[in-house]
Amino acid sequence: MKYESTRGDFSKTDAAEAIALGISKDGGLFVPESFPVFMQEDIKRLAKMSYSERAAYTMGLFLDGFDPGELKSFTDAAYGRGRFDSDLAAVICKTGNNTYFLELWHGPTCAFKDMALQVMPHLLTASLNKIGEKREACILVATSGDTGKAALEGFRDVPGTRIMVFYPKDGVSDIQELQMTSQAGENVNVAAVKGNFDDTQSAVKEIFSDNVLSAGLSKRGYFLTSANSINWGRLVPQIAYYVSAYCDLLAKKEIKLGEKINFCVPTGNFGNILAAYYAYMMGLPINKLICASNRNDVLRQFINTGTYDKNRAFYTTVSPSMDILISSNLERLLYELSDKDGDAVRSYMAALTDKGCYDIAPSVLRKIRDIFVSGYCDEEDTLRTIDDTFRNESYLIDTHTAVAYKALKDYRARSGDQTAAVVVSTASPFKFCQSVLTALGQSCRAGGAEQIDMLSQLTGVPAPLPLLALRQARPRFTTTIDKKEMKSAVAEFLGG
Ligand SMILES: *Cc1c(COP(=O)(O)O)cnc(C)c1O
Repeated sequence: MKYESTRGDFSKTDAAEAIALGISKDGGLFVPESFPVFMQEDIKRLAKMSYSERAAYTMGLFLDGFDPGELKSFTDAAYGRGRFDSDLAAVICKTGNNTYFLELWHGPTCAFKDMALQVMPHLLTASLNKIGEKREACILVATSGDTGKAALEGFRDVPGTRIMVFYPKDGVSDIQELQMTSQAGENVNVAAVKGNFDDTQSAVKEIFSDNVLSAGLSKRGYFLTSANSINWGRLVPQIAYYVSAYCDLLAKKEIKLGEKINFCVPTGNFGNILAAYYAYMMGLPINKLICASNRNDVLRQFINTGTYDKNRAFYTTVSPSMDILISSNLERLLYELSDKDGDAVRSYMAALTDKGCYDIAPSVLRKIRDIFVSGYCDEEDTLRTIDDTFRNESYLIDTHTAVAYKALKDYRARSGDQTAAVVVSTASPFKFCQSVLTALGQSCRAGGAEQIDMLSQLTGVPAPLPLLALRQARPRFTTTIDKKEMKSAVAEFLGG
């Protein structure tokens, strides 16, 4: 299977090249030229397999040029014992009739980003080998909190790679910040940037398109690439956990083979929910995908009206990993639903850059609304949902998951749709202790690691080990820079 660009202007390329390049030369994103199909028989077979086998099989359907044994060695290394604190890397938890949570945060950094970023370094280094790339890859990451740590942990001390992470100084939680600034590894670097996530992400995109910089780096034996969710190597592992969730519900006899289910996904950059949509395109029985937004509800407006408009106030919320106004992966959805019209996508994206907004054709909007439903949860309801869920269902969730759960409840009340639904749980509640404690009616002035003990004592829920280890963590990277200084920080990191 080959890959093509969402902007239509770049010849078809192999999986390895798409992963190595990250972004297409015409500025578009790589998408598969067609989608493999799951038969009911495949699903039945996968239901008997381990997570690692399900992931290797699903990724293999997309990754020509990677053999099955190779992929299995990657998924074993990524999802095997020692990395995840559960034998099932993606854990289904039933909380009520027809309601399930898919816990994707049992990996080393306690957020769902590990599901992709534990395996992506293997995919990337193998891809570089396959295309004969001799230069060292420098991964640049703009993070709204969770990607940064997961990428640092995934790439640390991986031969042939270096990684530099930028995060918005006031846009991440204390725990997220400490997780990143205390990162170990010889090939890593971290800097805080004044501004919000979109500023940081835009500045990273500018660095990528700076030809003078890349020529200079190339002479010194480096090239820049991305681990953001625009990279196909980030997205393809995410399809697997939707398949796996369906298999688990089937194996536990919660659903019958072929029965449709709903997924409700707390959404920011649109990567996670796009993977669900791809699983749907492959024939996984899905009824609705509920796209849950926090106060930065640019996607709700988009799904409801067909107008994408980022000219609006930006809010820093208690679910910071969703504080995003430019959802990069939406471009891939638009490409599919406009029948692969690269010109249309290019004009939408040009309008987004020039005017900050675009309107999609009514025919495209209709197709979006056939499957996607929008959901919303404000700050107060996020905290109330955490409290209600803990009191009434004895289940502790984080702020992002709470946004999704509220969106699901509202959707059910509004539509009467009682289809079995899986809420995608994207972070451990201990990663957002301060907000979770506030939700439970506690005032907490303590710093990072002490909050973890407090939440654990209050709820009786044990904290994940990687977060407990933060008690001993000391910050290594303490610089805060202006976004104008990011380019020179990269050059300096690479010895320039
Ligand atoms: C990244 C993240 C999200 C948003 O996922 P997207 O793929 O960017 O839509 C939601 N919740 C948490 C905890 C995250 O880390």
